[in-house]
Amino acid sequence: MKVLVIEDNEQNLYLVRYLLEADGHQIREARSGPEGIALASAAVPDVILLDIQLPQMDGYAVAQALRQNPALDEVPIVAVTSYAMNGDRARSLQAGCDDYLEKPINPETFAAQVAAAAKAGRRKHGGER
Ligand code: MN
Repeated sequence: MKVLVIEDNEQNLYLVRYLLEADGHQIREARSGPEGIALASAAVPDVILLDIQLPQMDGYAVAQALRQNPALDEVPIVAVTSYAMNGDRARSLQAGCDDYLEKPINPETFAAQVAAAAKAGRRKHGGER
């Protein structure tokens, strides 16, 4: 799969790239929301992994912006965040994400979780979109 990873933390980015490349996927990296939006528009990925804690433009705003692009209608967005206790999951889904993975990621299961989320595809919102 072509996986776009939007993540500002170098260690997280390294780990995600390492795990997904080891599983045979192609990774593109963006270190900010605007960069991720530009990359997603330039080459539509199979799945987008989106950090929520990003400088300037947070992951919710990034998800909303990505969902404005009809070319990305079929692309699942998976939020990856450590805000587990803050109603963050619901907020991610409301912003246009389809699934949610908590940090710290589990290296043993992460690639399979991403593949499952990609296979599940877009979450259906009851005709909302
Ligand atoms: Mn971050």
